[in-house]
Amino acid sequence: MAMSAFEATNLYFRRAADIMQLGQRIEAVFETPSREVKVALTVEMDNGEVRTFEGYRVQHDNSRGPFKGGLRYHPHVDPDEVKSLASLMTWKTAVIDVPFGGAKGGITVDPKQLSTAEVERLTRRFIGKIHDVIGPTLDIPAPDVNTNAQHMAWIYDEYSKLHGHSPAVVTGKPVELYGSLGREAATGRGVAIATRETLKSQGKHVEGARVAIQGFGNVGTFTARFLHAMGAKIVAIADHTGAVRNAAGIDVEKAIAHVKKHGHIAELDVGERFKSDELLFEPVDVLVPAALGNVITMHNVANVRAPIIVEGANGPTDPEANDALERRGVIVVPDIYANAGGVTVSYFEWVQNLQQFTWSEDEVNSKLEAKMVKGFETIHKVARERQVSLRTAAFIVAIGRVGKARVLRGL
Ligand code: GLU
Repeated sequence: MAMSAFEATNLYFRRAADIMQLGQRIEAVFETPSREVKVALTVEMDNGEVRTFEGYRVQHDNSRGPFKGGLRYHPHVDPDEVKSLASLMTWKTAVIDVPFGGAKGGITVDPKQLSTAEVERLTRRFIGKIHDVIGPTLDIPAPDVNTNAQHMAWIYDEYSKLHGHSPAVVTGKPVELYGSLGREAATGRGVAIATRETLKSQGKHVEGARVAIQGFGNVGTFTARFLHAMGAKIVAIADHTGAVRNAAGIDVEKAIAHVKKHGHIAELDVGERFKSDELLFEPVDVLVPAALGNVITMHNVANVRAPIIVEGANGPTDPEANDALERRGVIVVPDIYANAGGVTVSYFEWVQNLQQFTWSEDEVNSKLEAKMVKGFETIHKVARERQVSLRTAAFIVAIGRVGKARVLRGL
């Protein structure tokens, strides 16, 4: 029986906590989010009609610093998913060692059905409702599924109307408006580095590695670009509109240009078209699920053929499928490390905002590279020493850091 997203995250947490013999006192602190906010967002549509949407912000833990995490706009956003994603952020910021806690938020909406003006009103209304629980030293939102720098600019603007000029209240802003160079590409750059380090640890090379990527949004496109630049061959990509494969290697820049223009990969002519659902079954060296959660499950795990899975998305592998993969010796590089490049550069953006100083793109990128390499070394070492999966190792590292901070501060 499938468990909920939050149960799944708590299961991964508990496995690591058990190995660490954390004890019930500490475990109890992390199994429930610190604060859950739900708001009704009533906005006027362009045609004069009024509609109400549900908005959420869940703050899981702030032992190591202000709550931090993205906002997603998607029809599947619900309290369970947001709680799970908020908890993952607590562990992610700890694994990559940036001084934040974990949070997540979202609005239950299909933004593709709304005009830009409607999305702007919805975003501003959301901030109007949650402005007193976010802030530069309290909780710092960022982009996630279906949100980007423009949404972050509206959030900065709306929050600043109420609290005065506050660029550090949100990260992932446009570069022209207190954003950081390198932030937009950061998650994909990090996924590419994670892939390279994983291959290296297996005595393999990124050069010539065949990669399939599910999802061709912010994470998927930049992952494709950087892996291609490292010498890998992107042989299949998919989004919700379809999939395309090409054994000789997809023309990544052509695919990215197509998505920039049309918003999806339908009609993209860079290889053979096939069914989107089957992307996960490509016989590749590395599979990168970089779309939504819960895509590798007991229903399809037997058909997954890649020996390495790098989780670009949050929560793409459900625990039962994860265990089936582990039993087969498949290496799963967990979301809380693999896609941590985004929040890492969010941290760099926040630092720049607080210092009112900007860094060069090279500086951002080389600091990100160092964080991702160090992160891999750390979890790989724990995985070897304790004979556990990379996921359990990542949770052990994260829980150790968050637990230590919590105990030092006092329960
Ligand atoms: N939404 C991204 C994530 O899931 C980025 C969060 C952030 O930058 O705060 O990691």
